[in-house]
Amino acid sequence: MKITRIQVYQVDLPLEHPYWLSGGRLKFDVLDATLVRVETDTGLTGWGEGTPWGHTYVPAHGPGIRAGIQTMAPFVIGLDPRRVLEVERAMDQALPGHHYAKSPIDMACWDIAGQAANLPIADLMGGGSRTPRPIASSVGAKTVEETRTVIERYRQRGYVAHSVKIGGDVARDIARIRDVEAMRRDGEIILYDVNRGWSRQQALRVMSATQDLDVMFEQPCETLDDIAAICGKHAAPVSVDESLVTLQDATRIARDGIAEVFGIKLNRVGGLTKAARMRDVALAHGIDMFVMATGGSVLADTEALHLAATIPDAHCHAVWACQDMITVDIADGRGPRNVHGHLHLPEAPGLGVHPDEDALGPPVAVYA
Ligand code: MG
Repeated sequence: MKITRIQVYQVDLPLEHPYWLSGGRLKFDVLDATLVRVETDTGLTGWGEGTPWGHTYVPAHGPGIRAGIQTMAPFVIGLDPRRVLEVERAMDQALPGHHYAKSPIDMACWDIAGQAANLPIADLMGGGSRTPRPIASSVGAKTVEETRTVIERYRQRGYVAHSVKIGGDVARDIARIRDVEAMRRDGEIILYDVNRGWSRQQALRVMSATQDLDVMFEQPCETLDDIAAICGKHAAPVSVDESLVTLQDATRIARDGIAEVFGIKLNRVGGLTKAARMRDVALAHGIDMFVMATGGSVLADTEALHLAATIPDAHCHAVWACQDMITVDIADGRGPRNVHGHLHLPEAPGLGVHPDEDALGPPVAVYA
């Protein structure tokens, strides 16, 4: 089997509610999605997606994905997409770094490999749990009152897991954490996601002021050095999200005990092939995981679900999915959808969901 053609599509995915990140990062209201259709000489076709969470979140942006694919496509065409490691090496050789640009092609190759093997991707990767995964909501950086309102809105949609965005103002963060904890229900999973918004002193002040609570923080400071510097000075479990980009990051976090949880975002780390190694490092070091689509359509959500299904149930807290936050549905209701706040692994071979090509418009690039 050989890859014969790669078609690239660009789609705007408007957010239902405009979004603010912590630390003064820009408000944004639309995601720039890149979809790829990878064709083979057998007639099998795979789909992949790369959708950064706005352009100011991490060093990844929509046009960068499409430029990266332009650079990598000549090195990928002609390869067997079932040999995902060969495709990975070809992309790494053609374009060192820029992992976020590689995830759509990696995803499409896994989709084809699954279809060829007649297995869902999670089973092809070694076995997928059928335990439904809780979807984590994303509660933007807001006031105490707005935080309550947004959590209630997600609860009405069945959500039992919430990623509450904090960071930037110590007093307001402490007030919001205490308020959310007071309204927390039994069994509800709440992650306080700082999105790099605290300096070291701010992190220690909030973490000290809330140490009577059983709470977990994500990415409290900008860098791994910052998180490492404070990790012996507080008692709260920490998840690393934005600073987990490479396998070397994962091994450093694990070996040095910098965090207790990985937040694996598939687009950022370069797709399933690279993320699976991080999963194994985590499991070997007693580190639990959140698996997240960086953003995007149900395709990105489904990719995250496949990886989440390969993690033992007890070590996978939730998946973060974006489908309930955007107002355009490129797959017309198909694929894993929110059912009482959970996603169920699709049983169809490969990814298990493809977009409506009519919803994508004409390709913005075709490589053959
Ligand atoms: Mg996060």
